[in-house]
Amino acid sequence: MTTQTALADLQTLPVPPEVLALDARDPLAHKRGDFLLPEGVIYLDGNSLGALSRRVAARVRGVTEQEWGEALIGSWTLGAAQGRDWMALPDRVAAKIARLIGAQPDEVAVGDSTSVNTFKALAAALGVAPPERRVLLTDADNFPTDLYVAQGLSALLDGRFELRRVPAGEVGAHLGADVAAVLLTQVDYRTGRCLDLAAISAQARAAGVLTVWDLAHSAGAFPVELNAAGADFAVGCGYKYLNGGPGAPAFLYVARRHHDRAPVALSGWMGHADPFEMARDYVPAPGARRFVTGTPMVLSLSALDAALDAFADVDLQVLRAKSLALTDAFIGWLDPACARLSLELVTPRGHHERGSQVSYRHPQAREVMAELIAAGLVGDFRTPDILRFGLTPLYHSFADVYRAARGVQTILEARA
Ligand SMILES: *Cc1c(COP(=O)(O)O)cnc(C)c1O
Repeated sequence: MTTQTALADLQTLPVPPEVLALDARDPLAHKRGDFLLPEGVIYLDGNSLGALSRRVAARVRGVTEQEWGEALIGSWTLGAAQGRDWMALPDRVAAKIARLIGAQPDEVAVGDSTSVNTFKALAAALGVAPPERRVLLTDADNFPTDLYVAQGLSALLDGRFELRRVPAGEVGAHLGADVAAVLLTQVDYRTGRCLDLAAISAQARAAGVLTVWDLAHSAGAFPVELNAAGADFAVGCGYKYLNGGPGAPAFLYVARRHHDRAPVALSGWMGHADPFEMARDYVPAPGARRFVTGTPMVLSLSALDAALDAFADVDLQVLRAKSLALTDAFIGWLDPACARLSLELVTPRGHHERGSQVSYRHPQAREVMAELIAAGLVGDFRTPDILRFGLTPLYHSFADVYRAARGVQTILEARA
């Protein structure tokens, strides 16, 4: 069998009965029908851009044609009873996200990008830290935007805070008396390694250090318990596991104990206690709503709002169990071939250290991923040598994962 025929058949590759049995027992199997997944493609990239849910497509059409097209400006304030409450949309979406991250609804603000929210969170954290603490600690290999935003804020504050970058594994040892806050991404975007949010938050708290968590690859992938962990601030992404669509609004979490003291760096009118009073001075709205800056992005917020309904009846422990079963299966199916195919697993095998992706190092990772994508198996290449496969427990089946593992093996065997 040539590579071409092998891969042409990938989507319909026969799946052994024991794999079909896993799908038959999957309590989330019915969720797949909520999504419009493209034909002929195995899409393992929901950690970069989540798939389109059917209810999103319908909602965006309704918001555009009726709420905007017909009701026009009335839709800002018609009221929740008519389902036209654009003003309250950020709060409605915040409540849905709060459940997924272990927060109260009034601790979450929705809008802007993750990058902008990282700025807001860092400025708030540095603003409540004791003045003698002058270090902002972060993972040296953090996601680029986290590092860039921290650099920009540090420059804006005239170098009053030193940005100290250390390896993620050494963060604990650097939580000293000079550290104001620590900025960490829970799941590493390359390796899929998941940090112990509860343990690190507790350690930071004991050391008097504020935590700022980036949950881009956590929210919607597995349960996050920010309040139980005593976390201080967090941000996350709307378009990855939350499936809110390209450029979907992001979220910001601010623990209640900080609401009255944390400075709102981007104090816009939509975070004012009474925006249409048009007062001369900023008076913050109650709770995290004060961190909403400008006019709600209604079209994209509506898409995210509808996308989040897919989680409404999902037990997050069940979601986590399925995610681990999918990643275990993928790893297990590729394990016997790894050495022969120059694949090196970089995702931890330990469940408590794993997000919802599987990554391998390969010397020709860039070319290999291009071939996989051309063959209809969509993952990501990440510099310098990472093949990344995102597994989304809401819409992936074990059959998908089996076929994907076979596809990777087929492409690599043809190259070997
Ligand atoms: C995807 C991602 C972001 C995205 O930031 P944007 O402002 O939405 O572009 C931020 N942080 C991490 C860790 C990410 O993986």
